[in-house]
Amino acid sequence: MNALLLAGGRVIDPANRFDAVADVLIIGGKIRAVGGEAALQSPAHAQRLDVKGLIVCPGLIDMHVHLREPGYSAKETIATGTAAAARGGFTSVVCMPNTSPSIDNPGTVALIHERATQQAAVNVYVAGAITKNIAGEELAPIGSLKQAGVVAITDDGHCVQNHELMRRALEYARMFDLLVMDHCQDYSLVSDGVMHEAYWSTALGLRGWPSAGEEMVVARNILLSEMTGGRVHCQHLSAARSVQLLREAKKRGLLVSGEACPHHFTLTDAAVAGSEKFWEADGKAIFGFGAGAQELPCWPGYDTNFKMNPPLGSARDREAILEGLADGTIEVLCSDHAPHCDYEKEVEFDYAPFGITGLETELSLSLMQLYHPRLLSLSDLIAKFTVAPARLLGLPKGTLSAGADADVTVFDPEKQWTFEQVTTASKSFNSPFYGWRLRGKAVVTIVAGEKRWPEQAETAAT
Ligand SMILES: [Zn+2]
Repeated sequence: MNALLLAGGRVIDPANRFDAVADVLIIGGKIRAVGGEAALQSPAHAQRLDVKGLIVCPGLIDMHVHLREPGYSAKETIATGTAAAARGGFTSVVCMPNTSPSIDNPGTVALIHERATQQAAVNVYVAGAITKNIAGEELAPIGSLKQAGVVAITDDGHCVQNHELMRRALEYARMFDLLVMDHCQDYSLVSDGVMHEAYWSTALGLRGWPSAGEEMVVARNILLSEMTGGRVHCQHLSAARSVQLLREAKKRGLLVSGEACPHHFTLTDAAVAGSEKFWEADGKAIFGFGAGAQELPCWPGYDTNFKMNPPLGSARDREAILEGLADGTIEVLCSDHAPHCDYEKEVEFDYAPFGITGLETELSLSLMQLYHPRLLSLSDLIAKFTVAPARLLGLPKGTLSAGADADVTVFDPEKQWTFEQVTTASKSFNSPFYGWRLRGKAVVTIVAGEKRWPEQAETAAT
């Protein structure tokens, strides 16, 4: 059996409240031992990887990823999306159901499981749709989806507007102990908005998207969770009031949870006006490290790589998301990796699709915005990428306990590097972070005991 000893790293396993310099022994795709026992039990033929000075943690999980298969393989495929995940330090992803056809039936779930088995670099879990064809009109067969193996349901990309339908979804999902995830967007308020409604939308002449467009549905979800006892998870939170609503609901003991994406706690709506405006207004604190030594990244106004759903908020919104992450109100970090082709994004701001890629930058940006400014300890940050999503979704992942699947991420929280388009593993290039000097990077990604990043050959020398 294959044996691998990760020697001398700082092992952080929040699920077991473990944080110490230790060895990790992997045998036959499972964690055999952590700590003193690891070296003792290590067989003579074991491959040894010196990870001194690096962080060794349970494989990171991203519970919000668009792999675009089936139907949109020009944007991304299971193979390319999971390669990007491995590069970013992720060993498991949850793919969203807004594909073509949408993942609203057991057949499509089976198709993705099968392709993932053949082509994926990391574990792929599937989120099913709440409603048929994500049309918001009729419930999808939630019980059959659960039987087919979905780990949650969501109409992500869309939002169930009919409150009665959402109530039934929560009631059904509760019977199957499934998490209901919601992309919170009130269509009547948001209408055809393309960016956060405030000073910059007016200055740029772009149609505004009021924060209440998100907050209204967060409030709705909290009320329905209380009414039904169902578990609701609010996706990609972007507005200050949403965080406040969630905080109050949790104080009342409701089964609500939330997630945040790096772009929402790094950028603001000023970025849509171009880099100059962003750096002079809201971007000052981002490159606190090595300031002056580097040139700030540049981009023009109306750059469609700054168009996402929900849109970038104000500096106050960004602050509130960071506070929510720091005080535990928001328990999950994720990317909302949403690849789009160049030709789709290279149009006027109004017409471009919403979304950016994120798998390869999310760990770095999270470290830069949360760990390096001391808002979160490394252990608390890792928990939001491991044990927290695993518990919400009921995945047998997110820990380095003996006997667990050997999904392990090794990263360097200090390593400075520049994100370049030529190195991305994703099929699409719609990231606003190209040319950014980032701090913190995945060094080795191990799935079931096998190195998926960097590829075996590249690490042979180490
Ligand atoms: Zn969404």
